[in-house]
Amino acid sequence: MPELKNEFDCAATLKEGTWWMPFTANRRVREQGMARVLTSAKGAYYTAADGTKLFDTLSGLWCSPLGHADPRITEALRKQADTLDFAPGFQIANPETVRLSERIANMAPAGMDHVFFANSGSEADDTALKIAIGYHRLRGEGARFRLIGRERGYHGVGLGGMSVGGIVPNRKMFATIMVPGVDHIRHPYDHSKVAFSKGQPEWGAEMAEDLERLVALHDASTIAAIMVEPVQGSTGVLVPPVGYLERLREICTKHGILLIFDEVITGFGRMGENFASQRFNVKPDMITFAKAVTNGIVPMGGVIVSSDIYNTFMTGPENAIEFAHGYTYSGHPLAAAVAHTVLDIMEEENLVSRARALEPVLEEAVHSLRDVPIVYDIRNIGLTAGIDLKPAAGKPGARGLAMFERGLKEGLLLRCTGDTISFGPPFISTPEQLRDMVATVRKLIIELD
Ligand code: PMP
Repeated sequence: MPELKNEFDCAATLKEGTWWMPFTANRRVREQGMARVLTSAKGAYYTAADGTKLFDTLSGLWCSPLGHADPRITEALRKQADTLDFAPGFQIANPETVRLSERIANMAPAGMDHVFFANSGSEADDTALKIAIGYHRLRGEGARFRLIGRERGYHGVGLGGMSVGGIVPNRKMFATIMVPGVDHIRHPYDHSKVAFSKGQPEWGAEMAEDLERLVALHDASTIAAIMVEPVQGSTGVLVPPVGYLERLREICTKHGILLIFDEVITGFGRMGENFASQRFNVKPDMITFAKAVTNGIVPMGGVIVSSDIYNTFMTGPENAIEFAHGYTYSGHPLAAAVAHTVLDIMEEENLVSRARALEPVLEEAVHSLRDVPIVYDIRNIGLTAGIDLKPAAGKPGARGLAMFERGLKEGLLLRCTGDTISFGPPFISTPEQLRDMVATVRKLIIELD
């Protein structure tokens, strides 16, 4: 057991590796100590341990569109903690969460009127997959057990989401515990056909037909659901081609397959609408959400479910409970109180429209990098963008890592996956902040080259 010290030394403790950090190159962090510690945040900026102010280019991890330390949210949190700090969700309700379910259902596409709460994107996604399996079973179609995902999809780290996900390192390490009966369609991104596209690419709608290939292979009567991110986020902002999501919807409807949109990143405004489903005008059977609903301040996730699905559970055989699933913190009152304040602020300050208005600013700024020699591709939609750098010879990921490290010195907290830089700035950003962010990135890329 590590020795407890009187005076806490963050750098020393990091070096010891006592905190085994998530999705982290822990060995490298241990060697570098303090360089990566954030100590405070206000508005669109973090402050690092060495005092550097860092622009929050990804809204935390896509989760803080309102920026940080808004006193209205802090007050709501304090007030709720004083009033009802926890309430069990099993058989017992609390007003904040009841009201939140109604509010989220009202924001969702028509006919999606029921919300099941979880605490993270991973939990939301696994919950949705279980709902899909239960739905078919209750309808007497229990043979529909297959779950379909997409290459390069990210649906969290639960066993269901990991299996349906298409992230190679995550899958490789846990190959032996993948959920059985999962298959994948191809992702619709092809650099040779859609490089430097702005918004939705014209090419690629036909990639949705890949689902028909799996139907032909497995037969629709064995397929429960397909889960896709409307915009693939974690793998570098892969934008759905024009007509692609519509085609997926048609194929699902034709074969009785449930369509699940993972809107953990796109939900609550990032596409300039409440949900990407509304931006692309495609209605899924379930929407999963997390992150922005509480501005990342208190964990919360959930699944918005169509009335058809909900009613199937309510009219199925009468068990003690209809859905044997839930979490201690499902519908946590603190998270619900924060969510209300976040949604109030979004409404009062028209932040979803603001995200929409900032989209062309971000688009113009990122595409201005096209002339930089090592920039390989640029994509954008809503308040998101991805910039691929050509990998350095024999060292994939090295340029992304160097950008991250240089960003810390130049006032940017950058998120790089491999050699791709992803942007998802706060909705409260100003056009100048977005242009400055990209100008700094230009300088850093050129220096890197
Ligand atoms: N789905 C998507 C699309 C995500 O981007 C993420 C997280 N980045 C998750 C699920 C998992 O969310 P969490 O980390 O809250 O479990």
